[in-house]
Amino acid sequence: MSPSALIDPFGRKIDYLRISVTDRCDFRCTYCMDEDVTFMPRDHILSLEEIIYVAKTFISMGTKRIRITGGEPLVRKNILWAIEQIANTNGLEELTITTNGSQLYKMAQSLLDVGVSRINISLDTLKAERFYTLTRRDKFQQVIDGIEAASKLPFKRLKINSVMLKNQNDDELFDLAHFALERKMDISFIEEMPLGIITDHNRAATYLSSDEVIETLGRHYELTPSASTTSGPTRYYQVAGYDHKIGVISPHSHNFCDTCNRVRLTAEGRLLLCLGNEHSKDLKSVIRESSADATSLESAIIEALALKPQKHHFNLDEAPQILRFMSATGG
Ligand code: SAM
Ligand code: SF4
Repeated sequence: MSPSALIDPFGRKIDYLRISVTDRCDFRCTYCMDEDVTFMPRDHILSLEEIIYVAKTFISMGTKRIRITGGEPLVRKNILWAIEQIANTNGLEELTITTNGSQLYKMAQSLLDVGVSRINISLDTLKAERFYTLTRRDKFQQVIDGIEAASKLPFKRLKINSVMLKNQNDDELFDLAHFALERKMDISFIEEMPLGIITDHNRAATYLSSDEVIETLGRHYELTPSASTTSGPTRYYQVAGYDHKIGVISPHSHNFCDTCNRVRLTAEGRLLLCLGNEHSKDLKSVIRESSADATSLESAIIEALALKPQKHHFNLDEAPQILRFMSATGG
């Protein structure tokens, strides 16, 4: 297959695949899922072998970067083995993961050993009690220990991701930025997205725009917009006096669709063409078909790309149009 096969109808080259390896998680972040969320039956989820097969097919078609996410990717059994298989595939330039950090205290070294080059770690607060309120789990210290363990290792890059919610954690903007920059990590502040129905809070009431984030941080730091991108949707600012950057991910206020270079493989094997739309193609049924061969999967991927929408629309004042949770989607 030609390594340039992955071009969408709007001329965007798709060279970045995010894979949700599980919809399960050891946390229950209030903006992501309810406490009594129902996970998918295990046989609906792709096996690790199937995930590796799809990943390798994408790489043969020109994918350069893969991000492993979830749910919590590090709670999936044998995930290190699968990551190693994918990371060592010829043609892949970078394998990264997004994690809530709960397993890093014991897995950071192994992740480096199997070929992970960058880790995004989600952390929305530096206060243990508030951590419990936001994640509904008492693992604050375990996450901090994991971040410290990873920061001692030669990863190419570590980044903190913080979802900011008005009147819940926005008083910690500066503390979170300081925490990351002092540890030689970047940090991205994320606007909450209306993915899945949650009952904990009204998303319109907690919405905090990236512009407010930058304005507040601009009172503490000298921020200069940076041209740097890391293939993702983050807009970065260089911080005077530091080598590392502050970024914002603004699905509402500055949608990042024009430069979208990615697609997502959900835990149940759907290829999702856009985070904010339901356009997708069921790859699981293609690979589980008894007569399937490599060509059928490649053809299905090419057919799917033709469905990629031009942009997403989120409206916090309406009921969520997207009923799937970020955890099943691969954030
Ligand atoms: N469990 C891992 C973690 O938390 O990093 C990986 C999966 S999680 C779905 C990926 C990212 O999505 C996290 O940074 C999380 O904060 C973010 N996220 C989850 N639900 C979100 C929402 N409704 N809006 C914005 N970001 C969300
Ligand atoms: Fe789990 Fe990540 Fe969702 Fe939090 S954001 S519940 S850690 S998947």
